[in-house]
Amino acid sequence: MATTVLRGGTILTGEAGRPPIEAGWLLVEDGLIAAVGEGDPPGADEVIDASGMLVIPGFVNAHTHLCMIYGRSLGTDRDLLHWLGEAQIPVMRGLEPSDYALSMTLGAVENLKAGNTTVCEVFFSPHYDAEVDQVAAQALDDSGIRSVLFRCTNDESFFDGFVEDRGDIVRRVSELHDRWPNDGRTRIGGGPLIPWGSSEGSFRDLVELSADRGMPLHLHTAETPEYNDLVRERTGRSNVEMLADVGSLGPAVMLNHCVHLSERDIALIAEAGSPVIHDPTSNMLLASGVAPVPALRAAGVPLGLGCDGPACNNGQDMIENMKYAALLQKAVSRRADVVVAEEVFRMATHGGATAIGLGDRLGMLAPGFLADVVLVDARGPHMTPLHDPLAALVYSARGSDVDTVLVGGSVVVRGGVAQTVDEQQVVRDVARRAAAVRAAC
Ligand SMILES: [Zn+2]
Repeated sequence: MATTVLRGGTILTGEAGRPPIEAGWLLVEDGLIAAVGEGDPPGADEVIDASGMLVIPGFVNAHTHLCMIYGRSLGTDRDLLHWLGEAQIPVMRGLEPSDYALSMTLGAVENLKAGNTTVCEVFFSPHYDAEVDQVAAQALDDSGIRSVLFRCTNDESFFDGFVEDRGDIVRRVSELHDRWPNDGRTRIGGGPLIPWGSSEGSFRDLVELSADRGMPLHLHTAETPEYNDLVRERTGRSNVEMLADVGSLGPAVMLNHCVHLSERDIALIAEAGSPVIHDPTSNMLLASGVAPVPALRAAGVPLGLGCDGPACNNGQDMIENMKYAALLQKAVSRRADVVVAEEVFRMATHGGATAIGLGDRLGMLAPGFLADVVLVDARGPHMTPLHDPLAALVYSARGSDVDTVLVGGSVVVRGGVAQTVDEQQVVRDVARRAAAVRAAC
């Protein structure tokens, strides 16, 4: 039974209301957290010195598109649909199957080094015929990160080449899920990519698959007023009303963005128990708007936090994202306590874990939970003095302060260096291939 003890750090367990544990220790046994305490630590096979570090649960980046990483910094300062159609889609059309392994690997390294131990990859591609979803799942798994790969698509309309036959969707999602069932570090989900591009039948197919296979779904929802107009033109209903009517709301259906909601939309989401993922950095960068986080919280909607893709953020820093989540609400409400540090920390950890159905074993440092643990170096000038460790984590720290990362008890980042991937090699390969793809656009 392999054991590891992390000793000497300041532990923020992520449990609601629990104060930091100064000079604490955390014992990991066979990939799980066995005990958390203070004082003299127990012995273990490996001892990790966490002095000067904050010890926190790994972040759950609950919405990203690593499949778009070749488009990072391309077409900036445009709103969502122009940015997507003019800058990003042409690059995605130019990818080859091997590019999906490179993009997932680079994205996984970027996320792990920022302390994001779990990613929800909302994958889409015009190359599903070449089984690029299988390539992507394998690359994520090889990187050592924990992931849910949501294989997303549409059966009626989206950009040319990005539409799949309704029957193919069911068959291919099932094949992918057969290969990566619900019991491992790499999992599979599904979902229509955008809400105006699928038939009601395809929505129902995916809901049925989700129920049969215990698989989560992920839906872009009410991201911009233009999104809502497109859904209304097509169905005569709001985005959320349409989802309710086709049975696509519920605890297994993650709704991403939810920026432009009516009071009735919020009531429908709350009643169904769908979790909502908030992406403040992307919403600001793409000028999408400000999600009604306080109203969703008041209605009892479970909330997680996502960076959104490296092409629309333009990074994968959940610490920065927590800060923006809190600051955005403070700025628009002119209330400093409207969203506080502890709330965004819990959204970024246990909130995301709950949204993917793993709230009973992921997202907190508590006995029996998966040992996804991050050490954040708190000794830098921008972290000193450390009066309030939680406030310092949310408002002072940066993703680059992450020193050590464990996923399921395995060390995947040590001293800021990725242990599972040759980072310099993948950076070189992606830069070379992205330049070639763009030149051919
Ligand atoms: Zn997205």
